[in-house]
Amino acid sequence: MNYSRQREAVKEQLKLHHDHPTADLIFAELREKDPNISLATVYRNLKLLSEVGEIQKLSFVSGADHFDPNTSNHYHFVCDRCGRIFDVPIEVTKDLDMRAEDFLPAEITGHELVFHGICDDCREKQAV
Ligand SMILES: [Zn+2]
Ligand SMILES: [Zn+2]
Repeated sequence: MNYSRQREAVKEQLKLHHDHPTADLIFAELREKDPNISLATVYRNLKLLSEVGEIQKLSFVSGADHFDPNTSNHYHFVCDRCGRIFDVPIEVTKDLDMRAEDFLPAEITGHELVFHGICDDCREKQAV
């Protein structure tokens, strides 16, 4: 596969996900279709796609980067036990930018918000 075909394949594979996968997971899925693809290629393409704004790179979980095909500004929840990331589709508060700007010698262009806690699956496991 040539470079642009590989990039397209990586992007299409990510689009099938709503669970913010890591490069490792995308690599494992793509390798089933193309045994010649390498993890380095997948990671490089994910990084490149996030740099040009076609996907989002999420770096707030320790360890590997996670990737999100949804580039609109939205909030996330991270389970502190299993590390899974969920979308939180509440309205993004523009007002927060203006309020923060009052304290800064800067013009704010946006903010990120990450909720933390324990997901229901992990809570159930804890209960038994
Ligand atoms: Zn969990
Ligand atoms: Zn997301």
